[in-house]
Amino acid sequence: MITKTKISDRVSFYTSSSGLTNGTIIESEKGIVIVDSMIVPKDSKAFYEEIKKIGKPIKYLINTHWHSDHCYGNRFIAEKETIIIAHQDYLETLKAEKEELGKKSDYITDQKNLIFPQITFSNSLTLDMGFNIEIHNMPGHSFDSIIVYLPEEKILIAGDTILNSDGIKLALPYFYWGDIDLLCYSLEKIGMYDIELIIPGHGVQVTPDKIRFDLTYLNNLKELFYQFLSKNKNLELIDLQKSVLDKIILEECLPGAKKEDFWVTDIHKFNLQKLLKEM
Ligand SMILES: [Zn+2]
Repeated sequence: MITKTKISDRVSFYTSSSGLTNGTIIESEKGIVIVDSMIVPKDSKAFYEEIKKIGKPIKYLINTHWHSDHCYGNRFIAEKETIIIAHQDYLETLKAEKEELGKKSDYITDQKNLIFPQITFSNSLTLDMGFNIEIHNMPGHSFDSIIVYLPEEKILIAGDTILNSDGIKLALPYFYWGDIDLLCYSLEKIGMYDIELIIPGHGVQVTPDKIRFDLTYLNNLKELFYQFLSKNKNLELIDLQKSVLDKIILEECLPGAKKEDFWVTDIHKFNLQKLLKEM
């Protein structure tokens, strides 16, 4: 099932009930630009039906990164003339996900169902749709993560660089597939943009305060992790893995918050695993 949220005259997004994954529609005189295509076939198809109601061709389909829940629906959205855009390192992200999840969930990463990009880029790209659509690489969640920025509308379509929840629970930033320092750097950079509203990769729209919230968590996590390492210099990796979750608790990374306030607390666990892996 998908639900619609209209943000402005030009911009609306649909949220899949599966993982609250978002797909965004940007309308222009010159055609439609789509950001991300969801994963559940039924939802991607429903998303396409909604797009078709506008009665304009889909000019571009931008994938914010190549995790399956953002690109697997390309085959249901891309039309003959649609140009798919992604970051030049998208295949690395696809490969990393397949290596990790492939055994468990073959259908998700079955590559014969993927429709690949025609345009890739390194740092930035601007589409002229009568107004500018800026696309920038913001590594951190994954290395190929990109954000889509509409300066006139002051809207940021963040992909998984910024995550949210149902709007009731709190959502953590997630760098298991990327790098914590790069994510901090990207968030600092986004923090300087003129933004009124953010459409996250998952969950309901959020205000730019979320950037500070995420940076607080990430910076506290880094500090606590290095303290933990210096106190446990003599432990083997296996013992570090056993104790890190008990020693660096989520509430300490975000003082004032309680574990039950969070949407997916496992993200904290995966973030810690990533830090240990990178040692
Ligand atoms: Zn992702």
